[in-house]
Amino acid sequence: MLQSLNKAVDKIKEKAAEVRAQAVDAAAAARATSGQTDLPADSRSASIHLCGFDIQGVSIAGQETCLILPRCKLALDIGRCPQPAVYQQTVLITHGHLDHIGGVTFHAASRMLLGLQPARYVVPARYEDKLRKLLEVTSDMDGGLPLEYDITPLTEGQEIELETGHIVRCFPTVHPVPSQGYILYSLRKKLKAELVGRSQEEIKELRQAGQEVTDTYQIPEVAFTGDTSGELFEQDGNADMYRAKLLIVECTFVDESVSWEQARERGHIHITDLVMHAHKFHNEAILLVHFSPRYKRQQILAALEENMPPALRAKCVPFLNGFP
Ligand SMILES: [Zn+2]
Ligand SMILES: [Zn+2]
Repeated sequence: MLQSLNKAVDKIKEKAAEVRAQAVDAAAAARATSGQTDLPADSRSASIHLCGFDIQGVSIAGQETCLILPRCKLALDIGRCPQPAVYQQTVLITHGHLDHIGGVTFHAASRMLLGLQPARYVVPARYEDKLRKLLEVTSDMDGGLPLEYDITPLTEGQEIELETGHIVRCFPTVHPVPSQGYILYSLRKKLKAELVGRSQEEIKELRQAGQEVTDTYQIPEVAFTGDTSGELFEQDGNADMYRAKLLIVECTFVDESVSWEQARERGHIHITDLVMHAHKFHNEAILLVHFSPRYKRQQILAALEENMPPALRAKCVPFLNGFP
């Protein structure tokens, strides 16, 4: 009797060890997938390295989105203001929903407090006056020195240059309020086609004589959609979004708890949209952001495995900071 009881206890212990090992494996896989190590699973401060960029921040649908690219001194949206975002001079704002713009006053005030250069807020043109009013009211309520900042409205076809030399352009997205995504370009110089084959000596002489010997090209490095429905992928154009090295795209819903139709009504992307248009994404990597807080990180990872074809899954990295 005692012997069989001991055997049963051993079996339970064995099973428990197995379950523990599986849990450890799953967590390691999750960290490996999202590039996060030595941090608790729901860390909000993990950094991901993709296509030559470190990306920090948090992006949770309806709560906050702020992605930070320190190399470009840039924040993408400012739903709340994580402390590292304060040190980014330029903020590209996609639309007026609070989970994307709510931290802007704190960002402006914190930069002043730390004696940093005034921030530059790049916005869809229709938000220019509203954002100015918001910052003025905040400055007034604060009662201290007036807040200093620059608001740059950007419309399709225009471009601005960042202090790091990168170029920013925008493209319209599909959401219940005015919204736009952004593309960040680096500049490359290439010898003019008509000079290819000439000797170094000749080219040097031409340059010394004041002739332009190179053409400058804009290379799309990072595209960020902000909030949008999958209708974005059904439109013509946006070639640079599909060929940017890194595409940062929202993927609010990943299973049938919210259907593709419901996601479309709410102006958000369902995982099905990414699967349907997978052949268009020539990007090296796709960072998935803005998951609904209804999901736990394991549900998100499982949904990606289950629903994405292997070639698409291989280039997708879920951004899971803040997800338990
Ligand atoms: Zn949002
Ligand atoms: Zn939104």
